Amino acid sequence: MIKVDLHSHSTISDGLMTPSALVSHAAAQGVQVLALTDHDAVSGIDEARAAALEHNITLIAGTEISVTWRNRTLHILGLRIDPEHPVLLQGLTRVRDSRAGRAQSIANELDKIGIQNSLEGARQHASEGIIGRTHFARFLIANGHAKDMKTVFKRYLVKGKPGYVPHLWASLEEALSWILAAGGSPVIAHPGRYDLGRTLINELLSEFKQLGGVGLEVVSGSHHPDQYGQYAELARQYGLLASRGSDYHGPGHSYMSMKSLPDLPSQCQPVWHDWEEVLARAA
Ligand code: AMP
Ligand code: MN
Ligand code: MN
Ligand code: MN
Repeated sequence: MIKVDLHSHSTISDGLMTPSALVSHAAAQGVQVLALTDHDAVSGIDEARAAALEHNITLIAGTEISVTWRNRTLHILGLRIDPEHPVLLQGLTRVRDSRAGRAQSIANELDKIGIQNSLEGARQHASEGIIGRTHFARFLIANGHAKDMKTVFKRYLVKGKPGYVPHLWASLEEALSWILAAGGSPVIAHPGRYDLGRTLINELLSEFKQLGGVGLEVVSGSHHPDQYGQYAELARQYGLLASRGSDYHGPGHSYMSMKSLPDLPSQCQPVWHDWEEVLARAA
């Protein structure tokens, strides 16, 4: 089966590799089709595309939009988007801009427990406009507050912990409308991470489908292998296509390497089933 990885991050958001280094890494890992899906950003696409040409990789332009749905944060991938579409760019700019105030609030909370200058610290781990919890996590680890990513999130950065602040992201409807305006396919990222019960996941999938949603990430670097079958079945039930993505952020961050990510279960209809540039490669 052709090696397709439709979820990855570069230094444009919270990955550790520049877009070109990421593409070259993907090639070395045997990936043939790669989507760059930085959080709320598309500014790495040009560089990634140029590198893809050199490494014989088919690059899919993408993004991962932060969404608030029923008081929870969800991530919606926009795959095969036009990265220059003004509606999408305007939406992403709004979401990115809102990250600055949130980062200040996170720093204020960390101040209260005696961790000072975390905003400056986090900024040193962030390259461009995007600042998020991962950059705070890297600062906290570098300063000896936790030993690794898993521990630092659990101790400081998730709901109920001292450095967590609630935030209002885009609505599900907005995220889908931006992706669809830009000609892309909306895909729910790592559904297994949201801890939604049966009722809520069903409500999410029907709402998503109704708004024009197209796919569900079935195989994800942050899914347990038991979950592949479960989400493959839900995709089938809701008439959604299946996606596959490592969610690679760089060495030391990710749960799974691009190389070790399993193929989609055979009963799945892949989201790329009718993408010409992928079919041309598979032929
Ligand atoms: P943000 O969008 O700023 O809330 O940051 C979300 C990012 O934090 C995710 O995309 C992951 O890269 C990272 N993240 C969240 N939870 C964890 C975790 N438990 N371990 C490692 N990274 C995490
Ligand atoms: Mn991330
Ligand atoms: Mn995500
Ligand atoms: Mn991601």
